[in-house]
Amino acid sequence: MTNALSDVSFWFDALGDLPAPDDQALPQSVDVAIVGAGFTGLWTAYYLKRAQPGLRIAVLEAERVGHGASGRNGGWCMGMAWGVHGLLARAKSRARGVALARTLFDTVDEVGRVCQAENIDAHFAKGGSLGVATVPVHADSARAEVDALHAAGFDEGDYRWLPPDEARSRVGITPNHGATLFAHCAAVQPARLVLGLANAVRRQGTTIHEGVHATRITTGRVDTARGNLTATSIIRATEGYTDTLQGERRRILPLYSMVVATEPLPAALWEEIGLRERETFGDGRRVVIYGQRTLDDRMVFGGRAGYLFGSRLRGIIAASDPGVRHVERTLRTLFPMLRNVRITHGWGGLMGVPRHWRPCVQWDAATRTGWAGGYVGEGVAAANLAGRILADLVCERRTEFTALPWVNDVPRLWEPEPLRWVGAKAIQAFGDRADAVEFASGHPSRLWGSLFDRFVR
Ligand SMILES: Cc1cc2nc3c(=O)[nH]c(=O)nc-3n(C[C@H](O)[C@H](O)[C@H](O)COP(=O)(O)OP(=O)(O)OC[C@H]3O[C@@H](n4cnc5c(N)ncnc54)[C@H](O)[C@@H]3O)c2cc1C
Repeated sequence: MTNALSDVSFWFDALGDLPAPDDQALPQSVDVAIVGAGFTGLWTAYYLKRAQPGLRIAVLEAERVGHGASGRNGGWCMGMAWGVHGLLARAKSRARGVALARTLFDTVDEVGRVCQAENIDAHFAKGGSLGVATVPVHADSARAEVDALHAAGFDEGDYRWLPPDEARSRVGITPNHGATLFAHCAAVQPARLVLGLANAVRRQGTTIHEGVHATRITTGRVDTARGNLTATSIIRATEGYTDTLQGERRRILPLYSMVVATEPLPAALWEEIGLRERETFGDGRRVVIYGQRTLDDRMVFGGRAGYLFGSRLRGIIAASDPGVRHVERTLRTLFPMLRNVRITHGWGGLMGVPRHWRPCVQWDAATRTGWAGGYVGEGVAAANLAGRILADLVCERRTEFTALPWVNDVPRLWEPEPLRWVGAKAIQAFGDRADAVEFASGHPSRLWGSLFDRFVR
């Protein structure tokens, strides 16, 4: 027993020793091959077996289960995704946006239900999410957004504006000009969730082959560094690592996000910070931040986005990385009471960004190949829904899920380098600049904000 994943994230380090990987030989042929053992691949396997228990499924994972974003994220299991608010904003697409949003809301409960049913102790706590206005102008826009969401058919049980006093009693961020409480979000320990899900998948009879790097997917066949495999249906669930497959370059842009964890904090500090229901929290800035109170009373906090020329991938990101240190400074600024606490862990991971900045579930019935992903850092719950959609598509079932707008909403390819790098850097600079202007002046940053929005919304 070792824990070769302890450098990956606090979440894995907290688990102590883990069983060594199974070293089973690859089968020559299966009904369904799934490449990638993160949430997307595993949820797909899980629902496929529930639908058709007789299917022979193999999941191929280059490293270990959860080695990608699924074992490194901020642990927001959130009933929302990129692109939904865009659908809600336009009369023409509003009904589809409402259907997708409501399905995502229910997805959080679905994850909770499976945790119960499969005995997965993922520290699931559905305390909602607080979107704090840390500049006055964000309070105006957040209130207007809550009104618009209520006009679209949601209610106070979904989104509620908390005036400053109430917001401050929920979370001691400084400054705090009020907050939106979004009900459909749970805090989870993601490594526990992904490993528990993998065990549930194994119990169903699916084999997960770790340490198997797929090099190419073609119709009916996966080539790997350990031999080839034929399959009737093939699913790619490789998110930010998609570039590692031949022929898939420029499909998903890998973007880094960094996270820190504090030591467990004493009750007196939590009296000041709040988060009594383990609400997750963020604020209105464009370069997103996210935090949660863990079950063992640490603060886990992340943010920052970064892109490396040529979509270069970094496996393990050290606590000393400048991006991680930046996140630590942001945490201490927002919570001055944390200025002297020890940061015990710092890490980073890869989010997958498609060119149109919203998730996609693609299925080609002719070649029986498909993929899902492009969650832009919001995939913990969304991957469950994507897995249910993929399972229906593979089983050729037309359901409420296969009618959702993600299906075959295929993004175009990213630009070749150096344009891709210039674009990614420009977007980051616009976001940083817009945030800085708004924090300094308290007014909306029309120029930088609109440049940023133009590219990412
Ligand atoms: C730091 C960070 C914080 C985040 N915070 C949140 C959050 O709080 N809430 C939220 O909703 N989302 C968050 N996300 C995003 C979320 O974690 C992801 O959207 C989600 O985990 C994606 O799951 P996935 O299975 O599609 O991808 P991954 O978990 O990345 O899994 C892909 C897997 O495929 C494997 N793989 C790739 N290529 C190959 C190959 N060629 N052969 C074999 N295997 C391969 C990889 O090793 C990896 O294990 C965050 C992401 C990061 C990086």
